[in-house]
Amino acid sequence: MRVSKMLAPTLREVPSEAEIISHQLMLRAGFMRKAAGGMYNYLPLAWRVLKKIENIVREEMNRTGSQEILMPIVQPAEIWQESGRWGVYGEEMFRLKDRHGHDFCLGPTHEEMVTNLIRGDVRSYRQLPLSVYQIQDKFRDERRPRFGLMRGREFIMKDAYTFDHDEEGLDVSYRGMYDAYIRIFTRCGLTFRPVEADSGAIGGSGSHEFMAIAESGEAEIVYCNKCSYAANVEKAELHVVADVKEDMLPPKEVATPDCKTIYDVCTYLKLPIEKSVKAVAFSSEKGLVLCFVRCDHEVNEIKVANTIGVNELKMAEESMLESAGTTGGYMGPVGIDDNKAIIIVDSSVMQMHNFCCGANKEGFHLLNVNPKRDFIPTYVNDIRMIQEWDPCPRCGEAVRKARGIEVGQVFKLFTKYSEPMHAFYLNENGKEKPMYMGCYGIGISRIMAASVEQNNDKDGIIWPVAIAPFEVLVVPVNINDKSLAAKAEKIYEQLQKAGIEVVYDDRDERPGVKFKDADLIGYPLCVVVGTKTINENKLEIKIRKSGEICMLALEDGYVEEIKTLLKEL
Ligand code: ATP
Ligand code: MG
Repeated sequence: MRVSKMLAPTLREVPSEAEIISHQLMLRAGFMRKAAGGMYNYLPLAWRVLKKIENIVREEMNRTGSQEILMPIVQPAEIWQESGRWGVYGEEMFRLKDRHGHDFCLGPTHEEMVTNLIRGDVRSYRQLPLSVYQIQDKFRDERRPRFGLMRGREFIMKDAYTFDHDEEGLDVSYRGMYDAYIRIFTRCGLTFRPVEADSGAIGGSGSHEFMAIAESGEAEIVYCNKCSYAANVEKAELHVVADVKEDMLPPKEVATPDCKTIYDVCTYLKLPIEKSVKAVAFSSEKGLVLCFVRCDHEVNEIKVANTIGVNELKMAEESMLESAGTTGGYMGPVGIDDNKAIIIVDSSVMQMHNFCCGANKEGFHLLNVNPKRDFIPTYVNDIRMIQEWDPCPRCGEAVRKARGIEVGQVFKLFTKYSEPMHAFYLNENGKEKPMYMGCYGIGISRIMAASVEQNNDKDGIIWPVAIAPFEVLVVPVNINDKSLAAKAEKIYEQLQKAGIEVVYDDRDERPGVKFKDADLIGYPLCVVVGTKTINENKLEIKIRKSGEICMLALEDGYVEEIKTLLKEL
């Protein structure tokens, strides 16, 4: 490839719409251009990176015995109605109609499609276990598409699906995929961590996410340095905090004028913060939900949604609170009619004694509230959000927090789709049994962004060799010097013949401009052909990652030496 012909328009300015470094650098280095919100044109450099990531994924999927297929992007509504998700998938789903008025969607994921495919052709226990995957564009009308490829509305995903006889079979398939994911992200050169995950709207239980560690990551994880526990904060369990036992005191209503928050109340009443309980109110498809946690704890929305079995929670409106007999800022669990609101109390609150909470009346709080004596919740559960330094749920050591980019997720679906969609097989005894399914996603385009987040410096991108768009750039310092240019051209050809992915900067530009672009694009090695090459038969090799410059004698075997350098990077 010659730079003069390459569609890689670099920009000197940082584009204003790009907030994070990977988005900025991939625009500046000419990897991609925006087509619409959350949709991008991949230019040749990006496409080469994506193909390399895809190939790593493909090799490792094939290694697990999974078979590559390709399903349509446009999916009929009927299969989604059968699984029950047409109604609940929500606004993230792009929906469309054909000329006959029939409903379709652009695939946000393919569980329905693959279940429909497999149930038609797989009927015998002899055909199982079975594993298929595809690499394809997915569409999700994300509420906030942002950060370039990180959260797009159209993005590239690898999705795999396994079908087994039973739960033990599913465990084996799941483990196989988990191990393949470790190999994939390692080969892509990412710094990552597998974490326990909530299985979210897709359903089922038993899931891990693979998090590329990065400050810009949208996900928060906790991990323990003593044992191997690591989890998404959405999922991380918490043990009940037991209070010191106290005798129950009679409840007392107190005026708390001008106290806007529970913290104001604690200051005003001179109460320790652990002796008070705060509330968060949500509206859901099942009505108003009032959640209560200890004042120094935070509510975990995902745990709340899972407790009551809903997909989505929104902040409750004041009018809803009023119709349930309470008011914002003064909510408490005592005296709420459980026909008007679902009351969820965190397990640790149930261990508290004589605590303070809102009196469901403007300007008043209750003192000496005791669970069971004063209120019975609809649900008691762990609904707390884990915080840094909370005890590890496995070993008790203080956990640490980090931010991550979710680059992949593995799920055990069990029979969530096979039961309603009737994906059954006949066992040895001719009895019908539901298939046990797993699904496994990888964000191909998100990996590219995550890699740039982890590998960059002030000058640009630093690609790991395994996924770099090209491996080597050959730069003649002066293209108008005929003998120098001829030598450079020859080196370019020799490297190319040796199977190295090489680009030749044949532009009539100053060396400074060429090196700036080279650093911005992030070629792992830059071979400089200059006066030393002509006079001393030496090549200058710049290593992008370390900034090191080494000299190489331009004689037999120099191509092998460049290959060795690439291997060592
Ligand atoms: P997120 O929580 O980030 O929205 P998700 O859990 O909804 O992701 P999955 O359904 O697990 O995503 O999809 C599999 C993989 O596809 C994810 O692990 C992620 O790498 C990638 N992915 C999901 N949504 C997007 C998106 N909007 N843009 C780019 N990649 C995405
Ligand atoms: Mg996910």
